[in-house]
Amino acid sequence: MIEISTDDMERFVDRFSLGRDRGRGSQHFLRVKVLGGVINSEQLRGIAALAEKYDGYAEVTDRQDVQLHWIRSEDAIDVFSTIEKLGFTTDKCGQGFPGPRYGDVRNIVSCPIAGVNRHELINPYPLVKRVGEFFTGNRDYLDLPRKFKISITGCNTSCVKPEVNDLSLIAVRKNSDVGFTVLAGGSIGISMPGPRLARHLKIFVKQEDAFDLIRAFVEVHRDNSSRESKPKARFKWLVENWGMQRLREEIENRLGRKLEDYEGKIPLNGETEHIGVSEQRQDGLFYISIPLLGGVLSANKMMEIARIADEYGTGDVRLTPSQNVIIINVRREDVDAALAELSKAGMPVEGSSLRWTAVACPADFCGKTTGPHPKELASAAVERLERRLGDQLNGRRINLKISGCPNGCGQHLIADIGLMGVPVRAGDGVKQTFDIYVGGRVGPKASIGKLLASRLPAEVAGDAIEKIVSAFVAGGFQDFGEFCDAMGIEQLKSLIFENEKGGEEHGSFK
Ligand code: SF4
Repeated sequence: MIEISTDDMERFVDRFSLGRDRGRGSQHFLRVKVLGGVINSEQLRGIAALAEKYDGYAEVTDRQDVQLHWIRSEDAIDVFSTIEKLGFTTDKCGQGFPGPRYGDVRNIVSCPIAGVNRHELINPYPLVKRVGEFFTGNRDYLDLPRKFKISITGCNTSCVKPEVNDLSLIAVRKNSDVGFTVLAGGSIGISMPGPRLARHLKIFVKQEDAFDLIRAFVEVHRDNSSRESKPKARFKWLVENWGMQRLREEIENRLGRKLEDYEGKIPLNGETEHIGVSEQRQDGLFYISIPLLGGVLSANKMMEIARIADEYGTGDVRLTPSQNVIIINVRREDVDAALAELSKAGMPVEGSSLRWTAVACPADFCGKTTGPHPKELASAAVERLERRLGDQLNGRRINLKISGCPNGCGQHLIADIGLMGVPVRAGDGVKQTFDIYVGGRVGPKASIGKLLASRLPAEVAGDAIEKIVSAFVAGGFQDFGEFCDAMGIEQLKSLIFENEKGGEEHGSFK
């Protein structure tokens, strides 16, 4: 029996939570909420020490959290105390409730280089912090019909993938004002009405009004989204039923005033992964983006990143929505030394762009896959492509994202090449297969990926990826989206099934 004091109950209830794992021998995970991915070396060391106690590694998630597994329920209070001392709380992980209840506002995703970005219109971090702190543990907002995902971006790149959030604020200029315009109703999971990209609500919000607007959206979700069933309880279902005009009116009613129009376009370019070393807005300072395939980070590597960030920077580190880590504020004269240290620590800042763009979900911890683990698959695929295609991959825009199931935590539907795990019955057991999607993207031509092949046995998924990427490179394309548009889905299908008798999508794959 675990004893919990009344003090601990009051401190931790509503602000900390364990999630339920079902695989890999882990029973509980937790997700440390790192607002906007902003973390310092001391905090990173604290999380590394915690990870060390629990199998020695952590995962950077695509919502800029840090996820740990193998947490024992009897250790929860100690673990929560440690996280609290570090200045963090946790997600309400897992939503282990069967009905449409107890959803919370998830970690706010934001520009990983906020405040140092040479191109930002607004530094979004102060707003991210204010919003995140307001909703964390706030009992008025802890029983949402389902989770609510927010992104806030200060520039015109799509690192935060605004199109797949319930609510996204994007910095824009209107005449001489700088504020935000808004996308709403995105989510690429399977809940009803199925995968949807967020739509543009053509409003302009001044920076000083942004907090109230966000609160109004969350309240509209809380009070109006369906509580009839869990699959209908996401905000996108409400937006689908209401349409943008009614949504705008309801937000205006909640705010008690009219919203200002924004007639301009959404200024988003495509994704960028902040690859390698880049110049900051501050003279003489650089940031170094370290690629982590699938976001896996050992305790030892976290310690090394913290040390290098202290030695060559200001100890400030960022977690990215593409599951990478950035050290900021590195002096020009220290960049080479920092890169050498990272390389020595097993984190070379080199390789194809796929090392930065590959994303994969935590998969079999949640019990929905049988292996191979999407992170292992992503890692093996990237290494294989680099071996086969080498320098030919340089400078090309392409990403790979893998989810273990239709819930889409690995964002496979907004990937150039996206894989989704589908376990199928085989004799007395279960065999892991993957569906392959292509042509998903965010930015100016945002679209959901199209199904290219279904139920490919896991052991041939790497072959299929290689065939597609080889054709992309051989065709002389720089951008995978353009390659997809030029080829069309049927030609791409024939590419990967060229050795398959009759071009069948199911069965053996060579
Ligand atoms: S996509 Fe599916 S398998 Fe992967 S973490 Fe999410 S629920 Fe689990």
